[in-house]
Formats: sequence, structure tokens, C-alpha cells
Amino acid sequence: MRREFLKYLFEMPLLWLGIAVLAGLIFIGDTITELEIAFAVLYVAVILLAVYSGRTGAIAMVGIACAALTVISYFLTRYGASQAGLINSILSLVAIGATTYLAIRIEMLDAKARQAQSELARMSRLMIVGELGTSIAHEVSQPITAIAANGNAALRWLSATPADNDEARRAIERIVADAGRAGDIIGRVRGLVARSSPSRDTIDLVEAINDVLELIRGEIRRNQILFRAELASDLPLVAGDRVQLQQVILNLVMNAIEALVDVDADARELLVSAAADERKVTVSVRDTGSGMPAEMRDRIFEAFYTTKPKGMGMGLAITRSIIEAHGGPVYAAPNFPHGAVFGFTLPLGGKAKG
Ligand code: ADP
Repeated sequence: MRREFLKYLFEMPLLWLGIAVLAGLIFIGDTITELEIAFAVLYVAVILLAVYSGRTGAIAMVGIACAALTVISYFLTRYGASQAGLINSILSLVAIGATTYLAIRIEMLDAKARQAQSELARMSRLMIVGELGTSIAHEVSQPITAIAANGNAALRWLSATPADNDEARRAIERIVADAGRAGDIIGRVRGLVARSSPSRDTIDLVEAINDVLELIRGEIRRNQILFRAELASDLPLVAGDRVQLQQVILNLVMNAIEALVDVDADARELLVSAAADERKVTVSVRDTGSGMPAEMRDRIFEAFYTTKPKGMGMGLAITRSIIEAHGGPVYAAPNFPHGAVFGFTLPLGGKAKG
């Protein structure tokens, strides 16, 4: 504990020097003034100063030190009525104790708030990386499996007697094509994650949506979902951060897939659409999944609200903050007869697509 305290001391020397000087002055004042004067109450300021250290242990130590100095002063003080002095000292000790307690509570709440904030940032990254990771692994594993199979086939054609060079060449051509596909997928991923700071580009939403859909096509197929995209070919360009908007679309589609897994395989339908009028572009993700009761709809955009056993409840909260930062609302509504529709609108500021 003492070594810890010394560490704090060296981390913020000015703060601790200030605390020591102030405590020393109060101690001298308390000792040389009459017992009737409750000088020791001023130690409250020392404790409040210790809050700046940001450490509950340090605040507690300062509180204890102030209480000890108050008691020592009481015995050292030569003047005044000792009974009144005793009462004053007890009052000062109560004030010191209460302030220390409150200061520690404040610091603990502050630390919790700071932790929640950094968790939030970390989780949003983790969630997106996790979701991307799953779909990338799935998408890339297909061409790689095909490459391995065609490689084996080529070896067999070449080692046959006589060697069949034509078949071997066809197998190698398929290898080259699959390697190209794997390269394309990785290229798209790099495009998705390369820029992390928000920017204000002019975005072709259809292209951005297609890139996301390409990444999760495997996930859609694997879950036997009947998938349709209705993306207006003349969609105007929008202004915003391409990566963030892709994160939003990815999240809405992943949520839809998770809701669809809860219903029978032959009832799983997913529609991603994008359309525009003169003033705005609307993107929506419609599913025939488990849907949600009306009372749930008010809460789903709240941070940490989740109905999934392993859910984090962050996806829609992040979605809302990204879309609102782009000037548009997000919405959630029931889909008829089953499921849900989630979407957002963005105001039109960009140039029309030529
Ligand atoms: P998480 O996916 O971690 O649960 P989200 O913020 O993405 O967090 O979603 C919050 C909740 O909203 C989900 O747990 C789910 O109950 C509900 N929800 C989201 N999308 C859908 C959907 N397409 N259909 C039904 N419920 C949904």
C-alpha cells in the first residue's frame, strides 16, 4: 500500500505538493488557534483536491491522514476550552469522514462511467470485426477449398500415364480463377476496414450495399434464406462515411438473419431495398423472421438492450447514432404478416449519379 502511495506521489507531483502544503497550513492553523475554532473543517478542501488523483485508495489515505492530523492538533493545542474543542474536533472528524466517503463514491461512479464509455467503443469495434470475421472466413473458405481440390486433380492428371495435359491445364485455370475470387473478397474487406476515421465522401449507396451483401451471401445461403435485393439503379449519390454506413447495413442484415433463423426454413425471406425521392434516400431491410412485440419496439435502439443469449445490444444503438450523425432517422416497424422491417433515410445533398 505504501509503495502504491509513493507511485501516486510521483505520478502527479504538483497535485500532491499542493495537498501537502494545504494540509500543513491547516494543521498549523488548527494547532495555533484556540480549541473553540473548528479550523480542521478546512481539511474538506484537501480531500476534494485529492479527488483529482482519480484513485479511491489515495482519497481514502488523504481522508485518514486529515483525521489523524485533526486528532494530533487537538492534543497539541494549548489554548481554549477543551470540552468545546473536543466537540469541534468530533464535528470536524465527521465532516472529514463524510467528505471522504462522498469523494470516494464520486470517484467510483466516475470510473464506472469512464469504463462504460471505453467498453462501448471497444464493443462496437469487436462486434463489427466479429461479424465481418465470420462472413470473411466463410466466403474465403469456399475458393480455397476449390483451389485445393483442383490442385489435387491437376496433380493426378499430370502423374497419370500418359499425362493428360489438357485436363491438368483446365484444373489450373480453375485454380487461377478461384484465387482471383479469394483476392477480390480480401480486397473488398480491406476497402471496408481500411479507413476508420469518419469522413464525408460522396457515396454510391448501391455499390456500398452490394459490397456488404457480397460478404454475407454465404451466411444467407447457409441459413436457407430466400434473398432479394431491390436497389434502384438511378439512386442519387449521398454524402457520408461509406464505412460507417456499411457497418449499419451489415448490422441490420445480420439482425434480420438472426431473426430469420428462429422461424421455419421455408418461411425465411429477406429483402434489402434502396429507393429515393427528390429529398431523401431510403434503405430498408425487411425480414419474415420472429418479429417483435410493440412494447419491445420502443427499447430496441437503447444501448445494451438485447433478447439474445449472447447478444450485446449494441448494434442498433450504434446504428442509430451513425444514422443520426448523417442527418437521418432510423426506424423499425412490423412486417406484414410476420417479421420486421428496419431502415433509415438519408437527406439528399450529393450530386445525381451521372
Ligand atoms: P443484439 O443483436 O446484440 O441483440 P441489437 O442492438 O442489434 O443487439 O438488437 C437489439 C434487439 O433488437 C435484439 O436483441 C432483438 O431482440 C431486436 N431485433 C433487432 N433486429 C431485429 C429483427 N430484424 N427482428 C426482430 N427483432 C430484432
